[in-house]
Amino acid sequence: MRKKIVAGNWKMNLQLNEAKQLLQEIKVLEKNVSDVKLIINPPALYISLFRELLENSVIALGAQNCSEHVSGAYTGEIAAQMIKSCGATYVIVGHSERRTYYHETNAIIAEKINRALASDLSPIFCCGELLSEREENNHFNVVEQQLKEGLFHLNENEIKNVVIAYEPVWAIGTGVTATAEQAQEMHAFIRKVLKEFYNEAVAQNCSILYGGSCNASNAKELFANPDIDGGLIGGASLKAADFLVIAQSF
Ligand code: PEP
Repeated sequence: MRKKIVAGNWKMNLQLNEAKQLLQEIKVLEKNVSDVKLIINPPALYISLFRELLENSVIALGAQNCSEHVSGAYTGEIAAQMIKSCGATYVIVGHSERRTYYHETNAIIAEKINRALASDLSPIFCCGELLSEREENNHFNVVEQQLKEGLFHLNENEIKNVVIAYEPVWAIGTGVTATAEQAQEMHAFIRKVLKEFYNEAVAQNCSILYGGSCNASNAKELFANPDIDGGLIGGASLKAADFLVIAQSF
């Protein structure tokens, strides 16, 4: 049975003291959440300390990105194996901000997926269309291509470790959320493509998260849909109380 997941993407926010404070607040609230995997993706610098602070907690840690290279002369980059060695178990790969601002192609993303899996990290693979692509009714093709070129080189055993996040680019950080119908339609499509390319078991066991201005007010309506297994949450994950409400929205 697939997992329900709520993952917070803190992006490039919060100084160390603020980040520790938020983590503390979330830790206090976590006991009010059951049956949901909580993942926090703070800036990578904080992962090692957070691992210690989360002793006895079931909250998992993830990074927001990893290098497509194994190791070596890549100044400023962070390798998947470093992330793993600091205590994270997840890594976000292919976020639209990485695709847009850092020119990550599907081919680069496929390599990052490989590095993550080789380091025993579960990738949270992000996909989603631009507004113009939806307006041209091309959103299903775009997402299918992202899946095929970024993810579907994996075999059946490998893909079982991947979480997919559907994040329409026009909804990320804009306050414009996909309607529950739009999100469910795309999630069902992603599950259909998984079934066609792999099989029914892979499709049914894959957690597919929705991301894009998901917040305490709309999470329940989104998560009520059969193919929406939780959320990848940006802005609303920076407030412990809101993050908790979202985690309780199943
Ligand atoms: C994200 O960055 O993954 C995201 C979903 O952001 P927000 O919730 O702020 O739209």
